Amino acid sequence: MGSDYLIRAAARDGSVRALVATTTQLVSEARRRHDTSATATAALGRTLTGAALFAATLKDGESVTLRIVGDGPLGGIIAEADHAGNVRGYVQVPHADLPSRPDGKLDVGGLVGRNGFIHVTRDLRMREPYTSSAPLVSGEIALDISNYFVVSEQTPSAVALGVLVNTDLSVLAAGGFFLQAMPGAPDDTIKALESNVALIPSVSQAIERGMTPEGILAVAMTGIPYDVLARQELAYRCRCDRERVERALISMGARELREMASGGRPVELTCHFCGTSYVFQQQEIERLLRQALGEEPPVHQ
Ligand code: ZN
Repeated sequence: MGSDYLIRAAARDGSVRALVATTTQLVSEARRRHDTSATATAALGRTLTGAALFAATLKDGESVTLRIVGDGPLGGIIAEADHAGNVRGYVQVPHADLPSRPDGKLDVGGLVGRNGFIHVTRDLRMREPYTSSAPLVSGEIALDISNYFVVSEQTPSAVALGVLVNTDLSVLAAGGFFLQAMPGAPDDTIKALESNVALIPSVSQAIERGMTPEGILAVAMTGIPYDVLARQELAYRCRCDRERVERALISMGARELREMASGGRPVELTCHFCGTSYVFQQQEIERLLRQALGEEPPVHQ
């Protein structure tokens, strides 16, 4: 099995934007790092795939964070992706699980909860990040993301996200697509998209059967002339490092740091996204405290 990637395509007349991704490896990596239950793997994997597709609509250097907060036992889901194909995320309660639905599918909607919100934060680098939100409609993630596009951007879109989990909890296949009709798209094009999408009832099963993003795209765009514009490798990659953790500690403020320093013990912080732990000895906490108080310039630049 090859590594994960995403292709970006557009109808030749500009009326449709299409993105298709395979994410089997990165969802496997997320499961390995977070030890998620079968249903939590599906929920996190769909959200990671959605974030990867979303990020492909941004510009170089920009990133997006999806936060899905429902009233189910999973708590919240966070997924971040950037334009360079780095994807990471976590869920609040990784071991939460529910019995499968009567149709045999994992009950992602029940685990996430059907009441809540999807929050989308775009970090556009030079500008302040901004967040927009929409209510959840199903907790199944794909429908929630497409509804978000309708509510917040008034653009009709088809989003499919799938994760196939094996009985041993390993990830058999994962991926998704995002099709967006641009304002003014001809009715025939929209009708063609609708009937094409119906030919791909399960994107994860299509990937498991060996379909590539190019193959899925060809089905989705049947009858609509298009060009593939770009191909992007995708991987589960965390950007955390000691320097970022130090900056986060300093930003907590002098009072918190003084409290940590007075504990007299090393302080251990674990990255939610990747599980890496960072240990700070007492004298390091004291140094960060002096930096927070402005008594000492930061060591790193
Ligand atoms: Zn990390």
